Amino acid sequence: MHPSDGQGYSPSVPGAYSHQMPAKVPPHQSSGQYNYSGSQIASQLNNYQGPGQILNRPPVAPLSGSPVQQTGSVPQVLPPALQNSAAVSSAGGFPPGASPPVLSNWQYSQTPVSHPAGSQTSHLAHVAGTASAQPPPSSLSGNTNPPGSYQYAASPGGPPLQNSYMKPGSAPPPVTQPLPPLHPPSRPPLGPPPVGGPPLIRPSTLTAAPPSNSASQSLLNSSANRDGDATSTASDGSVVQNSYDAIEGGGLMGKVLELTTTHPSPAPPNLKMGRSVGYSYPNLPPGYQNTSPPGAPGMQTPALQYPDGSKPFHQPPLGPNHLTASMGGLSLQQEGLRPVNLLQERNILPTTLLQAPVPNLHEDIQKLNCNPELFRCTLTNIPQTQALLNKAKLPLGLLLHPFKDLSQLPVVTSSTIVRCRSCRTYINPFVSFLDQRRWKCNLCYRVNDVPEEFMYNPVTRAYGEPHKRPEVQNATIEFMAPSEYMLRPPQPPVYLFVFDVSHNAIETGYLNTVCKTLLDNLDLLPGNTRTKIGFITFDSTIHFYSLQEGLSQPQMLIVSDIEDVFIPMPENLLVNLNENRELIQDLLKTLPQMFTKSLETQSALGPALQAAFKLMSPTGGRISVFQTQLPSVGMGALKSREEPNQRATAKDIHLTPSTDFYKKLALDCSGQQVAVDLFLLSGQYSDLASLGCISRYSAGSVYYYQSYHHKHNPVQVEKLQKELKRYLTRKIGFEAVMRIRCTKGLSIHTFHGNFFVRSTDLLSLPNVNPDAGYAVQMSVEESLTDMQVVSFQSALLYTSSKGERRIRVHTMCLPVVTTLSDVYLGADVQAITGLLANMAVDRSVSASLSDARDALVNAVIDSLSAYRSSVLSIQQPGLMAPHSLRLFPLYVLALLKQKAFQTGTNARLDERIFTMCQVKNQPLVYLMLMTHPNLYRVDNLTDEGALNINDRTIPQPPILQLSVEKLSRDGAYLMDAGSVMFLWIGKNCGQNFISQVLGVPNYGSVPQNMTHLPELETAESIRTIAFISWLREQRPFFPILYIIKDDSPLKSSFLQNMIEDRTESALSYYEFLLHIQQQVNK
Ligand SMILES: [Zn+2]
Repeated sequence: MHPSDGQGYSPSVPGAYSHQMPAKVPPHQSSGQYNYSGSQIASQLNNYQGPGQILNRPPVAPLSGSPVQQTGSVPQVLPPALQNSAAVSSAGGFPPGASPPVLSNWQYSQTPVSHPAGSQTSHLAHVAGTASAQPPPSSLSGNTNPPGSYQYAASPGGPPLQNSYMKPGSAPPPVTQPLPPLHPPSRPPLGPPPVGGPPLIRPSTLTAAPPSNSASQSLLNSSANRDGDATSTASDGSVVQNSYDAIEGGGLMGKVLELTTTHPSPAPPNLKMGRSVGYSYPNLPPGYQNTSPPGAPGMQTPALQYPDGSKPFHQPPLGPNHLTASMGGLSLQQEGLRPVNLLQERNILPTTLLQAPVPNLHEDIQKLNCNPELFRCTLTNIPQTQALLNKAKLPLGLLLHPFKDLSQLPVVTSSTIVRCRSCRTYINPFVSFLDQRRWKCNLCYRVNDVPEEFMYNPVTRAYGEPHKRPEVQNATIEFMAPSEYMLRPPQPPVYLFVFDVSHNAIETGYLNTVCKTLLDNLDLLPGNTRTKIGFITFDSTIHFYSLQEGLSQPQMLIVSDIEDVFIPMPENLLVNLNENRELIQDLLKTLPQMFTKSLETQSALGPALQAAFKLMSPTGGRISVFQTQLPSVGMGALKSREEPNQRATAKDIHLTPSTDFYKKLALDCSGQQVAVDLFLLSGQYSDLASLGCISRYSAGSVYYYQSYHHKHNPVQVEKLQKELKRYLTRKIGFEAVMRIRCTKGLSIHTFHGNFFVRSTDLLSLPNVNPDAGYAVQMSVEESLTDMQVVSFQSALLYTSSKGERRIRVHTMCLPVVTTLSDVYLGADVQAITGLLANMAVDRSVSASLSDARDALVNAVIDSLSAYRSSVLSIQQPGLMAPHSLRLFPLYVLALLKQKAFQTGTNARLDERIFTMCQVKNQPLVYLMLMTHPNLYRVDNLTDEGALNINDRTIPQPPILQLSVEKLSRDGAYLMDAGSVMFLWIGKNCGQNFISQVLGVPNYGSVPQNMTHLPELETAESIRTIAFISWLREQRPFFPILYIIKDDSPLKSSFLQNMIEDRTESALSYYEFLLHIQQQVNK
């Protein structure tokens, strides 16, 4: 490998972490904030593939590093994994202080060709060749169907194929007995592209897309080899062949390339109202459509015969309904298009939670669509071209919450998981069935065969209804994955806890809380009979605990050589939870007392993590590390960089890591399917910017308890208990990978969240948890001409805690539009805000905080300017926004005032970094809450409009604007800011509330540090507590409730969240609007 050439960690890209595509770095171009040039599209692909090269990663081969652990107590050389990562460091992901030329806008699209320069470009060219060049152009016209897979011409305008089926009994047809082809193979593959239809994509070649079965077979056979080869393959600059990549199946990249040039002459775009926006199955070939004239009663044509009474193939009728669909949405559209004069209309905040916009699809399609809580797009009307997207000046991207806890999740166990042979998309509700036997992929348009087994519907127990299978009826579904989806037997759940036991740590008293919570929840750790658990503690040395069966008590082994950490006794440090429960419980009971006399103040966190990594590498699993200070000795030791009086606007604010030790270690962990979760409990600066990398790149989570102390800060104790319980007991997925696919023409170019990007677009998630969110940015790489809809699909392949290999798939379908006003009409302001927040974190790190802030403001200015100049037909005075974006300035102002991006000295550096971690890792719903809190008046709660859940009545008070103007001294108000809540009691608050809810006689006797509401037997108390509990239950973290009065020291924190009001360092909402207006009118 060549450390110097960067291997994707391009030294020319400051702050470009491996999984940040160069696109997010301000372009090195001197003019034009937005790039409209055609060359951009070509470069997108190159850039896109760029990160695929990153990896001089250790092979995924599960057990490769393990001999180290097996050979006993002799200090060992580092496993190859550690050595490999040297390349990473020299490439320098973290150029301290380097600031690129800055533009205060985002390139929503991709960066130009010129960037990054030099080695990377040629490198990419080479890769592009290996990845996509195989099918020679001539093969496009040839019959490239794999043997046994026949594709039939749908004769344009003709009758559908005459298929007859024999129902083979009532049981599911045997998989092993494929139905003989009904048509002789000599029939031509696909007929000439019908005129006037959607782009017909010819089947891809065998080389590009081997049939799934043989692919999986060869994969199994060759996986070992491939793993072994990974490093050497990488060294010559080609794509690291990653076995997981092969399993999950490559994305569209490469394969799509050869499919793009064969568009038939496109039909003239239909008139707007005539566009069937998504009704029925999109892109039905004309031959099929013609069989059923609009309005005809379905597809029950005599052409399909089912001699033994099988139900005829029936797809929803394509009729005039789709017209009514658009008409039906008309009133909504009108409202959506209504320009709002923001300077005049002050009451734009909805009084109920803002819902995601509903895509303008026919209701039959929309009702199948993915829940926006799981999958959401910034623009629910997808612009047809990049030029149109550029005009809108809005970012295009997806926000995902893929592993969210779901109350209902269809799980399919089937030996055949039906996927597109070309692009590996999972069959989903938005594919089209050409007939019973063939379906057309909605991402690449390849026509695929319906496997015999799929003809039987296990839900209805009917045969011949492939389109009614659960896979085609549910946008969110989980598959039990057969062995082809495994590189090794599913790993057992393995949990390793790493505790800081320095003097400082013991002082905080955290170990008591953690050990007790762990003891209480030991039986609830997700797992099975194979679950393993282990413990490491550390101060200036590292302590291991042997939990060998037969020992009367745990045995502590101390390793004081922290320069070259070794595992003293590999066998009994990670032990079976069930078989060694008593010893484990003993240890948890005694640990908090063991170090109470310790005077050791040093912290060898880095070496402890190295030890943990070595211990975990053979299996993979989860490391939970608890740290209370700046690591001071051994690898990864850090120096304080916080200057208390530093203004946050200063350029050299330390948002970048000071060492790449933690990132490198995280990448090693990722390679061995180990994730590290960091619990930072600290009153002092601990350089979270550096430490956080350990979780970020290993797909872990970061928790931060500022000034944790068991006596001085008791509410933090409760918070830690509650959140740790959630953490310990929540669902977990191991050795996971996720891939997001989208319809051909769209391209994903930047990923946000905690993970590592393996091979181009495969996210490596050693652990996945239900509380993690992700975001991606996209561009329109090729015009979506003639497409009525596009689809997005995320597939998460993981091992459950029960040892099952599963695939969770979400698919979302959205309409394509051709006008700017339609793009604005479908704008999802919350998703846009969430994506911009992610981009702003990156910008803060790669450039500066002030640059990120400018870019946020410019996002508002640019989009409203574009709206004003290109959509509004009549120029009116004021600041006009489309209805869909009426909250955009407010939300951006809220971001500017949020801890991650605010100016002034309010936020401690670690706190700011932690908030940035949250922005990157939280699902949108929580991100919005912490950005723009919800304010309710609660002294007059009623049951009117209340929810009834499990015999509880939950009041639903209206949401108020965040301004002190809305507060009355007569009232009491609850502000829900996500991870914290404030209950503000007005000076003249009604006596009733004070006595019936707070349980004190009068305002003066409300205690200063009140953080709990007493449970009183009054209707008012019950209502208030029900409401607050309900809010708390809906999130994975535990918000502390602060009850504050006018003279409370926390009042300033409460007021800080009054987004619409002016603060010492920030504009009021009205001032902000005036500023925007001034810029827009320029
Ligand atoms: Zn496909």
